[in-house]
Amino acid sequence: MFLEIKNFRDVPVKKEVQLTVVGKVFRPNKKKVLALNKCLEEYFRLVNWYLNFNSTSKTFLHKNSYESAKKLFNLNTALIQTARDKAVEIVKSFNEKKKEGKVKTERPKLKRISIRFDKRCYSFAKTTNKLTPYWLTLSLNRKERVTLPVVFGERQRKFIEEALQGKWQFCTVEMVKKNGEWYAHFVLKKEIELIEPETVIGVDLGEWNIATTVAVSKQNSKPMKGKFWSGARIREIRGKYAHLRRNLQRKKRLDLVRKIGRKEERIVNQQLHIIANEIVAHAKQFEKPVIAMEKLDGIRENMNSSAKLNRRLHAWSFRKLQQYIEYKANLEGIPVVYVNPKNSSKSCHRCGHVARTKSREFRCSKCGLVYNRDLNAAINLAHALMRGMGWGSCEPPKLPDEVLTQSQDGTGEAPSVRAG
Ligand SMILES: [Zn+2]
Repeated sequence: MFLEIKNFRDVPVKKEVQLTVVGKVFRPNKKKVLALNKCLEEYFRLVNWYLNFNSTSKTFLHKNSYESAKKLFNLNTALIQTARDKAVEIVKSFNEKKKEGKVKTERPKLKRISIRFDKRCYSFAKTTNKLTPYWLTLSLNRKERVTLPVVFGERQRKFIEEALQGKWQFCTVEMVKKNGEWYAHFVLKKEIELIEPETVIGVDLGEWNIATTVAVSKQNSKPMKGKFWSGARIREIRGKYAHLRRNLQRKKRLDLVRKIGRKEERIVNQQLHIIANEIVAHAKQFEKPVIAMEKLDGIRENMNSSAKLNRRLHAWSFRKLQQYIEYKANLEGIPVVYVNPKNSSKSCHRCGHVARTKSREFRCSKCGLVYNRDLNAAINLAHALMRGMGWGSCEPPKLPDEVLTQSQDGTGEAPSVRAG
């Protein structure tokens, strides 16, 4: 039996992508810092005030509280609205976590907040000033405005320049205070035209090889090139931190457990960014690529139940990796389509027979195919998409011409750009 294609959607032709560019407010004078701090305090109070309504409806909040909020808080009316939106987002995500049993409190508790300015209450311009060409003007309340110089790193500046040239649309700016310094997070978006594909790149995710890709062309269903990304580096990081966590738990240092948890997440994230960059760069070398990945719905068929924590961590990494790949691919104009993964790792890509797999090798008891297990799965994902696009039959392909293995020793630069 061949893979079923459920939930198949057409390859998208246009897509909106979002990007966050971070700049630092450069040496603001005391008066400006004071104004920003006061605004943050007021905004924090306002979001908390909205949280008391415990509502997930913007309309409800607007009808019942907008007028009193205007009287009670000395903030620009646009800020009153973004504070309301933030409160709604906070309540929504709290309710989600509550459903999953991840929270202990009844209500969300606000620790810190950033101020969200939208188009109505900020402007951004480039001046001829040599040292600080970029200036951000924020209107804080009915009377006060501040104009701040913002500096960017090299990579971030490239995107800000593109935005100033009209290649990106400016959305909101989040003003974030961190360790006494102020940062401006610019949210940019643009609509990208995705290319009509000629080559399908199947991307299988797994524990041994975190990613395995294979390219199949529209002209010839024989897989062209396979490539592996080892999961060893991430396994090593996971192992190291699991060990550290156990030690700290024994010593009842729960504060440190949480802290190293965040650190682990950061390090793994960085690895995932590197891998996603490499996968997209690899996909780019083919004629008009489209990426096929599996729809991840909870539990994966091929993971054993004994490693529950492991599975949760993996599910998290896989989802992140897919997000990064999709985002980075879209930026390059490469569409990404999710296909139903049913039996993708258990079916023979040559004859469709569903076999049991235990080792790293896929062995088909029907047609005798012996093949790398992950590569077989990647081909199945590519074929699922090809059938979905009506690219004709995917008749028995032979072994790929070339199988490359990518070592994963963390070379390459982690992007400072974050997926939106
Ligand atoms: Zn077979």
